[in-house]
Amino acid sequence: RALVCVCVFVCMYTHARVYVPRLIRSSLNAAANTRVGQRTSARTTTTRTMAQPHDEVLAAQEAHLNGLADSEERTIFDKIVSKDIPATIIYEDSLALAFRDINPQAKTHFLVIPKIRAGLTRLSKATEEHKMLLGHLMYTAQLVAKQEKLDAGFRVVVNDGVEGCQSVYHLHLHVLGGEQLTWPPGCPPQ
Ligand code: AMP
Repeated sequence: RALVCVCVFVCMYTHARVYVPRLIRSSLNAAANTRVGQRTSARTTTTRTMAQPHDEVLAAQEAHLNGLADSEERTIFDKIVSKDIPATIIYEDSLALAFRDINPQAKTHFLVIPKIRAGLTRLSKATEEHKMLLGHLMYTAQLVAKQEKLDAGFRVVVNDGVEGCQSVYHLHLHVLGGEQLTWPPGCPPQ
C-alpha cells in the first residue's frame, strides 16, 4: 500500500510540475491577446485604430514579467504560421510570413516573421547561423513593401526586449508606411 501511495504521489507531483505552469502561461497569453483585441475594438469608433504608446509599454512589461522571453512555448505567431489562429497574410514563402499587424501604428503596418523561430525569440539572440535567415527577412520586408505600394518610403523596426518594447517573443520586423512618418520614435519626456 505504501508503494502505491508513493507512486500516486510521484505521478501527481510530476503532472503538477509540468502542466500547471503550462496552464498558467497559456491563460496569461490568452488574457494578453484578449486585451490587445479589446484595446483595438475600443478604438474602432475613432477614425484610426491605434494603440496608445503606453499600452505597448505595458504589454512589453507584462510579457517580460511572465517570462515569455525565455519560454519554449509556442507564440501567437507560431499559431498564425500553423493557421491555428487567423491573420491577414499578405506574403508567404518557405522561410518567411508577412501579415497585417492587428493593432496598426501607421496606415500600412505589417509584420515579417521567420516561419520557424529557430531560437530567434528576439534579435539579440541571433548567432552566425541566423545570418542567412536575417538577410531573407530584410529582403522580404522590402519585397512586401513594394507589393504594398510603399514606393514613397517606409520604416522597418525591430523591438528587442522589455526596454525595446517587445511583447511577442518570436522575432518580427515591423514595416510601417503609407503616410508621412515622424522621427524620432518614442522616448518618454525627460
Ligand atoms: P512587439 O511589441 O514588437 O513585440 O510587436 C508585437 C506586435 O504583434 C504588436 O504590434 C501587435 O499589435 C502584434 N500582434 C499581436 N497579436 C497579433 C495577431 N494575432 N495578429 C497580428 N498582429 C498581432
